[in-house]
Amino acid sequence: MANAAKAGNGTGGDGGAGGGSGDGGRRGDGAGLRADIGVIGGSGFYSFLEDVTEVPVTTPYGSPSDSLFFGELAGRRVVFLPRHGRGHHLPPHRINYRANLWALRSVGVRQILGPCAVGGLRPQYGPGTLLVPDQLVDRTKNRVQTYFDGEPLPDGTVPNVVHTSFADPYCPDGRKVALAAAQGRGWEAVDGGTMVVVEGPRFSTRAESRWHAAMGWSVVGMTGHPEAYLARELGLCYTSMALVTDLDAGAETGEGVSHTEVLRVFGENVGRLREVLFDAVAGLPETESRACLCTHAHDGWDLGIELP
Ligand SMILES: [Zn+2]
Repeated sequence: MANAAKAGNGTGGDGGAGGGSGDGGRRGDGAGLRADIGVIGGSGFYSFLEDVTEVPVTTPYGSPSDSLFFGELAGRRVVFLPRHGRGHHLPPHRINYRANLWALRSVGVRQILGPCAVGGLRPQYGPGTLLVPDQLVDRTKNRVQTYFDGEPLPDGTVPNVVHTSFADPYCPDGRKVALAAAQGRGWEAVDGGTMVVVEGPRFSTRAESRWHAAMGWSVVGMTGHPEAYLARELGLCYTSMALVTDLDAGAETGEGVSHTEVLRVFGENVGRLREVLFDAVAGLPETESRACLCTHAHDGWDLGIELP
């Protein structure tokens, strides 16, 4: 039950160690650095990008969780953003999701992969399960979840009232790529399912967890919302890749998974999750060729502001 990895939700089962720009990265001035693929995840990933360049950025919504880390993977320009900041200091409810997504878009990102750790709500979704959700339920309580709130930007422009379709919260093309990448590594991922996102930082009670399961939802996490929705508001493709690190309170029948056990499960899987993630990056369509629903998020709307 107790699951720091899930709370951290960060593919950061290394406990956040290894964050920072120290692993061979260099600090850049950011001039001209662009990337069309973004990865929001834990610290287990960016240090494996070769020749990482760290670029601090700011946005009209404040600072993102950390600097952006630029690198290249399979010939694609990728930027990594540690969701909880280096050292894993930001709890899920304190993450500045608006700044994170805005920052990524501002450097050219149009497609995002969002690996995260979750709890399984069904006995068959035990530790080590990889699930690529196709639906989301928001049970968060205190998060700003829109750019279109009528508040003027620093440049004086004011966002209009905009209602963005979110019927299908994840990029259908990105989901296919993620599933194929997992299969290519011999990891049979669960194709579809509902991620319920709770406010945290506490875990669910058994009653809440049983309720979530009874509703037919699949996994529970703390960071999937509003991350995916804000991506949609910016016309970005967003694909979630959820690694189950434990069974949630209502699904487990024993005394609960220990923290040590959670870290062990995470450690066993973070390596192959990284491989799958890298293959997914390589498999994503060229940005210019995107034709998915994400690119039509604002058809017919006057946003009132310029997206970065
Ligand atoms: Zn898309």
